[in-house]
Amino acid sequence: MIHNSFIMLVEWIGISFDITIAITGIAISTGLLVWYNLWKVPSVVKVSNATDDDSNSNSTIARQGFSMKKIPSDLDVIVIGSGISGLSVAAILSKEGKKVLVLEQHDVAGGNMHTFVEKGFEFDTGLHYIGGNIGCVKSPLRRQMDYITNGNVQWSAMSDDYDVAIVCQPDGGTEKSERFPINKKWRSVLIPQLKKSFPKEHAAIDKHFDLVKQVEKWLPVYIAIHKLLPQWLGRRLMMSSRLDLFTKTTSSVLDSLTTNVKLKGVLTYMYGDFGEIPDRGAFVIHCLLWLHYHGGAYYPVGGPAVIAQSIIPVIERAGGKVLVRAPVSEIVINNNNTATGVIVKGETIMAKIIVSTVGVPLTYTELVPKKHQSVLLTDTVQKVLSNPKVASNVSLMSMFVGIEGNATELKLPNQNYWVFPSWDHNANWKKYVSEKNSVSLPAVFISFSSVKDSTYATRYPNKQVALVIAPSIFEDVQEYKSHRVKHRGKEYEALKAKYKSTLLNILIREFPQIKNKITFMDLGTAVTNDYYLGTHRGAVYGLSHTPERFEASMTMNNFTTPKTRIKNLYLSGQDVACCGITGALLGGYYTAGQISTSALIHTASMMI
Ligand SMILES: Cc1cc2nc3c(=O)[nH]c(=O)nc-3n(C[C@H](O)[C@H](O)[C@H](O)COP(=O)(O)OP(=O)(O)OC[C@H]3O[C@@H](n4cnc5c(N)ncnc54)[C@H](O)[C@@H]3O)c2cc1C
Repeated sequence: MIHNSFIMLVEWIGISFDITIAITGIAISTGLLVWYNLWKVPSVVKVSNATDDDSNSNSTIARQGFSMKKIPSDLDVIVIGSGISGLSVAAILSKEGKKVLVLEQHDVAGGNMHTFVEKGFEFDTGLHYIGGNIGCVKSPLRRQMDYITNGNVQWSAMSDDYDVAIVCQPDGGTEKSERFPINKKWRSVLIPQLKKSFPKEHAAIDKHFDLVKQVEKWLPVYIAIHKLLPQWLGRRLMMSSRLDLFTKTTSSVLDSLTTNVKLKGVLTYMYGDFGEIPDRGAFVIHCLLWLHYHGGAYYPVGGPAVIAQSIIPVIERAGGKVLVRAPVSEIVINNNNTATGVIVKGETIMAKIIVSTVGVPLTYTELVPKKHQSVLLTDTVQKVLSNPKVASNVSLMSMFVGIEGNATELKLPNQNYWVFPSWDHNANWKKYVSEKNSVSLPAVFISFSSVKDSTYATRYPNKQVALVIAPSIFEDVQEYKSHRVKHRGKEYEALKAKYKSTLLNILIREFPQIKNKITFMDLGTAVTNDYYLGTHRGAVYGLSHTPERFEASMTMNNFTTPKTRIKNLYLSGQDVACCGITGALLGGYYTAGQISTSALIHTASMMI
């Protein structure tokens, strides 16, 4: 769930390869400004009540089924995938007057922002909180979101202690647990609290947050070095003391600060937001995540589905369309190595530009026809993609829990809980993966969407929902993938029952008051993600968030940049940026800016 301006900068600096130097100059300075603005807390903090008559509360707008009759003529752009990245590319280009068709394989648009109703409960899927000061109308992230939604999405603030990191022995009661609330105010609350809990670690705590700030400060320099200087010089500069932070794992940095396992465990409690344990994860992403939530956490009013419902009218107003049940099986490429269309259900649809948001592996190996793959999958790209430190590998299981009752009476928190078996995340993970179908879950995330959304109580009176999420290993469930969804057989159901019971125990241990109020429960695993979210091997965050992946993205031309080696074929989504609603949104801006110079200038000037 990563969130940053990282990629926007890459875009605005990286365009130097193919458009004029003048534009690059604008891009660089804008990128630097955007980066600076994204992290700083605006001086005027005002929660907006934006409205616009484009708002469409009718969810049918996100459920328009595919048929050739609905395809607009003379399409400028086809976007594959309707997650935040696909919808944002489409909306930005629509605002530049382009006619865009978005094609979505699922039966509802929105990707990870879609919601579904089951037995009278509405559940969200892949948006549980966002930072970036999105509740403040002046924050760059808010302005980016407002631009594509025409200001139709409002944001509710979560508690100041938006997360709670908890260690609880599997057989222990809550009284045996250790818990650390994570407050949005670092200087006045979070850091003093941490220092009180770790009286001998004041220097390490200060140094950690100092390094987080260093990463914030040096990020534009890091990107500029990679994008503007020759590689040999860039590498030399990267060796310098400040910039080597960008090439390190979280563990290697934290190990140099302290030997205190508990402190390191608390500081890295949110590694699940991008899926990499500290031994693998890039320290830069760890820092950007801390910075992202520095101003607090927010949730969309009305639930995440309102985001897609607000963006689609923007696309339609320019003559475009968003169609679901539209799985793209192939990208059409002509003999001049130019993308000219896509194939859906055997029908060919043509457009001037094709954008794929479904990730590098799926696009390169499944959507691009075999005879054109060698252009994209060069030896170097294949080598990098098969590196386990780069390949997509993180999946999640989600348990959807329906509870009867009132949130206040049930004392449900407006916070996320992160529950671990011990503070040693690396060891927890090793134990989990060492055994097939293990239930020694290394991390469990609990959140009550019905509490975070201020309209839930009126939309679904006396109903509450909990989302309980944990890692899922694709190989453990891979054999059931070919079976029909909801009919995957007894073995799979038995495995799911085992996970459900483990997750339920953890949920009830934290919230015993809901024990007799639960009336619905279902669980999806890595193969469920492939079915509903169109993921590749269940990998919900795309390519790994490791130093190796970012090094490859920075140094290899056309590896994860929007422009591919096939003319008029572009990439967007979390692989061109990083995971998280914000990461993927910025990926959308990045790609739109590469397709249209006017979009680049327009959206860039909007951020200043
Ligand atoms: C359980 C979970 C919880 C999360 N929680 C948070 C959170 O709290 N905060 C946060 O910021 N981030 C969170 N994330 C991460 C975030 O949701 C993603 O990083 C982000 O939504 C990715 O956006 P995207 O547009 O790149 O991809 P997606 O949202 O995955 O969209 C891609 C779309 O492409 C479609 N598609 C795939 N193949 C095809 C095809 N061949 N033809 C047509 N359509 C196709 C898919 O069905 C999908 O709708 C979470 C993710 C998960 C899984």
